[in-house]
Amino acid sequence: MSEFRVGSGFDVHRLESGRPMRLGGFEIACDRGPVGHSDGDVLLHAVADALLGAAGLDDLGTLFPDTDPRGAGAASARLLGDVLAKVKAAGWEIANVDAVVVAEVPRLAPHRERIRASLARILGATPDRVNVKGKTAERLGALGAGDAIAVLATALLRKD
Ligand code: MG
Repeated sequence: MSEFRVGSGFDVHRLESGRPMRLGGFEIACDRGPVGHSDGDVLLHAVADALLGAAGLDDLGTLFPDTDPRGAGAASARLLGDVLAKVKAAGWEIANVDAVVVAEVPRLAPHRERIRASLARILGATPDRVNVKGKTAERLGALGAGDAIAVLATALLRKD
């Protein structure tokens, strides 16, 4: 009988005008982008923590500390790839991943399918196992002012 484990991940990054907006493994057109030690891809960071949480492994910040100069400007797709390798080495397969992107800008809808496909590709999963939704913060707080972007992610792992 298969064994299942669920994990959750959360990440938030401050946004500054003129920086590239990376979300789900590629750059999308936006007048602002995340401030971060790596490339600031908040979606990939939250998904990585959800996978690590489900597998019972150390969190992203412990595995890739932001005090490590080797991580500066790192491609988050590579970080997520490293995380996936650890999860698979522990015997787990992805059952599904779901994420909510909370941001006033960028609007997710025009990019949603491409982000979903990109995330699925990075995870080596079929797109039906990967979902991404967008929500605004109803103009409340820093998220609602467009000064930040946050992602809540859930991952379900399966071991046969
Ligand atoms: Mg982050």
